[in-house]
Amino acid sequence: MQAAVAAVSRTGAKFISGGTNLLDLMKLEIERPTHLVDISRLPLKQVDDLPDGGIRIGAQAANSAVAAHARVRALYPALSEALLAGASGQLRNKASIGGNLLQRTRCPYFYDTAAACNKRDPGAGCAALGGFNRIHAVLGASDACIATHPSDMAVAMSALEARIELLSRDRSTRCVAIDDFYRLPGSTPHIDTVWQPGELITAVILPPPPPGGQRYRKVRDRASYEFALVSVAAVIATDRETITAARVAFGGVAHKPWRSFEAEAALRGRLATLTTYEAAADVAMRSAVGRGQNDFKIVLAKRTLCRTLADAAQIAAERPS
Ligand code: SF4
Repeated sequence: MQAAVAAVSRTGAKFISGGTNLLDLMKLEIERPTHLVDISRLPLKQVDDLPDGGIRIGAQAANSAVAAHARVRALYPALSEALLAGASGQLRNKASIGGNLLQRTRCPYFYDTAAACNKRDPGAGCAALGGFNRIHAVLGASDACIATHPSDMAVAMSALEARIELLSRDRSTRCVAIDDFYRLPGSTPHIDTVWQPGELITAVILPPPPPGGQRYRKVRDRASYEFALVSVAAVIATDRETITAARVAFGGVAHKPWRSFEAEAALRGRLATLTTYEAAADVAMRSAVGRGQNDFKIVLAKRTLCRTLADAAQIAAERPS
């Protein structure tokens, strides 16, 4: 692993694993690495139990392998559902967990080198602001970029409070909470994460599963092989119909997986009813701003949250205590 980190320290070098996003970017000359360091065969494919009851997922594990892993399906079903909602079977077989975390936005202007894009070319402007923005962000956007984060997996990981383990070229390691790993665009939308050049993602750590039921729901323009218009990862625990704990994260609405602590606070201590879910959805979308074509996402996100919370509460109620 250290050899890979040393090899990528050359100017312009990049890691490659599944290549399911990087190769597209290279074909369009959006990414032009001088060297590629293949990390796909590093011994980072294991899913291991941790002493505290959590699990450690190696960053080179395939998305499909993690989705099908017995412990993931039993303890973190929202993660398995999110992985299976992403891409196609072929891509899930090829794509790594680490690469999934670092994939770039699917804003069409980012991939159109004739269009102005601050994320691809800082200072160039943002063609999406006055252009086709049906798929763009309604939360946390800026005047520099209204792109959304594309990963399903990362949304579930946000609700499950995952931590990202990174190895740097000075041999030190650090763990970053997933909500701190991703950035909002602000005035520097070309920087997606706090990942530092040359750092190798070695694992994702999941703490012990939260109590209650879990559900990931994705709404998209077609049934498969499509990015989310809106998605929700929800975890909810109840005691005699009163919500005792809740976690909520949205996908497709912001530059990062959008954990809504405000919605969680609005759920705790209330009855698990549609009225409660609708009130939490209003809170979650209170600061949402549409750009015209994507106004529908605000309503869609509220409805998706209500449906996902109802599903998760049903699962919680049916679990043996
Ligand atoms: Fe580029 Fe972001 Fe604007 Fe899309 S929304 S064109 S990624 S700056």
